[in-house]
Amino acid sequence: MEAISYERAGDVASALRAAQQPGTMYIGGGTNLLDLMKGGVARPMRLVDITHIGGLDTVASLPDGGLRIGALVRNSDAANHMAIRTQYPLLSQALLAGASAQLRNMATVGGNLMQRTRCPYFYDIAFDRCNKRTPGSGCAAIEGHNRTHAILGASAQCIAVNPSDMSVALAALDAVVRVVGPRGERVVPFAAFHRLPEDRPDTDTTLLPGELITAVDLPPPLFGDHAHYLKVRDRASYAFALVSVAAALQLDGRTIRQARIALGGVAHKPWRASVAEQMLSGQPLTDAALNRAAAAALRDARPQHDNAFKVQLAQRAIVRAVNLAAGGTGGVA
Ligand SMILES: Cc1cc2nc3c(=O)[nH]c(=O)nc-3n(C[C@H](O)[C@H](O)[C@H](O)COP(=O)(O)OP(=O)(O)OC[C@H]3O[C@@H](n4cnc5c(N)ncnc54)[C@H](O)[C@@H]3O)c2cc1C
Repeated sequence: MEAISYERAGDVASALRAAQQPGTMYIGGGTNLLDLMKGGVARPMRLVDITHIGGLDTVASLPDGGLRIGALVRNSDAANHMAIRTQYPLLSQALLAGASAQLRNMATVGGNLMQRTRCPYFYDIAFDRCNKRTPGSGCAAIEGHNRTHAILGASAQCIAVNPSDMSVALAALDAVVRVVGPRGERVVPFAAFHRLPEDRPDTDTTLLPGELITAVDLPPPLFGDHAHYLKVRDRASYAFALVSVAAALQLDGRTIRQARIALGGVAHKPWRASVAEQMLSGQPLTDAALNRAAAAALRDARPQHDNAFKVQLAQRAIVRAVNLAAGGTGGVA
């Protein structure tokens, strides 16, 4: 048994101060961190409970027409918030596609951004080899069962995928993450928040040691009318995505003025399909254009031995999600 100390931070300054000590981790809803601790994957010496910090649990309008979602807003509150449901339905749908109602009631926005991969070789310490858990030990997944693993952006060190549904929608919406640390505040564009594994798969994000996520900012809403989050999984609920697609459009009749497409379940970070977006923008929405764009989105895919099916699955999911978005938010998958 290892002793763990617990501290409740009442404000940001005291959380940052507490996090200066080595071996300290923040705890939000605890729905990921406690599982990792029970499994021996995470071994903090000290937990700083951030859920009592005032002012980080609200959703507020920004002067530019965007929205600020505090890092301590619970996933269920974010999903059901009126402004998010009506102006950013892509985000609401993605949140509701994740986990279960009970988990969403506990999970925070900041914790969701930081949740760790569900690669079974990472989660089970009986496996010796996991570069994400023990840098330099190898990757058991590359030769092992890798049906659920990455097809884009993987490295020889790690083929794990990011499991967050919420993050896929935030990537498509061009959110920014607000963080504060010992050196002050910074704003991180969403595309630069999560990382690809390269030769440091133990590091999932660009958050610096001790930094605290305080909020996620959304730009003014442009995609409320045509948005769809499609999650393809082994079970209809309570399962992580094999492939997911966040699709949002601005339409002039049947012509796409602007397209946003991000993929989940395919890479170590939410994967923005920028080439496909460019191919579709300014084009009439036709099956041929959509199929070409979906093929281009997966052009660089490098599947593992068990997951070649994900390439076609992702292409088809893009086509379906974009078509459903075009049909109007609220369409049924
Ligand atoms: C059975 C099950 C099924 C699930 N299914 C899904 C699913 O389908 N889709 C999906 O997206 N998710 C799913 N999840 C994951 C769930 O969404 C996450 O566990 C949750 O979002 C994490 O939020 P939390 O507040 O509980 O984080 P915690 O567990 O408290 O923390 C997670 C990590 O974030 C760090 N952290 C927390 N807040 C901050 C902050 N403000 N700043 C810096 N670091 C911070 C912590 O130090 C820790 O490292 C599932 C979880 C379970 C247990």
